[in-house]
Amino acid sequence: MRVGVPKEIKNHEYRVGLTPPSVAELVAAGHEVIVETKAGGGIDFEDQDYIDAGARIVATAAEVFDQAEMIVKVKEPQPGEVAMLRPHHLLFTYLHLAADKPQAEGLMQSGATCIAYETVTSPRGGVPLLKPMSEVAGRMAVQVGAHYLEKQQGGRGILLGGVPGVAPAKVAILGGGVSGVNAAQMAVGLRADVTIYDINNDRLAELDMFFSSQIKTAYASKAAIAAAVKNAHLVIGAVLVPGAAAPKLVTRDMLKTMKRGSVMVDIAIDQGGCFETSHATTHQDPVFEIDGVIHYCVANMPGAVARTSTFALNNATLPFAVKLANMGADAAMKADPHLANGLNVSDGKIRHAAVAEALDLPL
Ligand code: NAD
Repeated sequence: MRVGVPKEIKNHEYRVGLTPPSVAELVAAGHEVIVETKAGGGIDFEDQDYIDAGARIVATAAEVFDQAEMIVKVKEPQPGEVAMLRPHHLLFTYLHLAADKPQAEGLMQSGATCIAYETVTSPRGGVPLLKPMSEVAGRMAVQVGAHYLEKQQGGRGILLGGVPGVAPAKVAILGGGVSGVNAAQMAVGLRADVTIYDINNDRLAELDMFFSSQIKTAYASKAAIAAAVKNAHLVIGAVLVPGAAAPKLVTRDMLKTMKRGSVMVDIAIDQGGCFETSHATTHQDPVFEIDGVIHYCVANMPGAVARTSTFALNNATLPFAVKLANMGADAAMKADPHLANGLNVSDGKIRHAAVAEALDLPL
């Protein structure tokens, strides 16, 4: 198969769909890989690294789309990229369609087969292609939270871990899945006072065992979240209802009760956000303030640590990319129902039930 890798064009996105080592794996399996010039330049992968791995470099994204059958990307296609998709294309990337009807309609019009990383599943449960980015975002959430709690950033002037004789900051993590746990690990490492809220009691029990006395857990009732938000210095939104828009757990009224200079990091912003007051921001302009509370709502947090993120993502996506290239989309999805769960759009129709429901579009 001819596999194409365009340069990512979303604001401050330096990740790339395939690393040179991943290209070498595909080439060794007998495939042709076409890479747009400078596709990996932002994270120090030179064109020569791709050539050494067996890829062919082309000058423009248009040439990649013209020549390749499978397009491997990181972020959802931007309007100019959607316009280059044709019915014979197989698009393999993050899509996050549940909160993005214009993109869904564009992909339907293209006629392309679009497999979304975030809805591919694993036999052991969970979403294996979202996992590495959730690990990165969870760990970063504490790093950025600590930064914006500093006075000169507009924060309350609080050190997450406190010091001997001064209490640590209270960190409330909403959602104890992959990103929530990774956030908790970082916050615990910095000696903050951490509580994880979730509606899955089995998960809460696992977290209680895993972290032992290092954290507290609480059922995420409306009352518990209201109390948490009022007392917390850093609130991290890390919930997910797969394929659907994030539930709005922190309301505008709850926000009014928060301390001035506290910080909210809404990791779930790529699914619409789990705070009522959230709207997506960029790395260029990452925060805004409402009622004295700093909101950090960057939808592509892992882009900031693009080199780590690209390797982590490729570790997870490459086995699927190789399977798709070896077998073609139809046979690969027939052979692997977990890969088939990644199918979001084909032949002009939405193919994923939760996505169709969120967008109010027919299956
Ligand atoms: P996950 O499935 O591992 O965990 C989600 C957790 O949320 C689960 O434990 C679930 O029980 C819990 N949950 C669901 N509804 C809840 C509710 N009403 N109250 C409390 N808990 C609830 O998900 P994840 O991999 O940690 O991803 C979390 C979010 O982060 C997703 O929206 C994902 O797309 C997003 N994400 C964002 C970025 C970014 O750059 N902003 C990067 C990676 C992932």
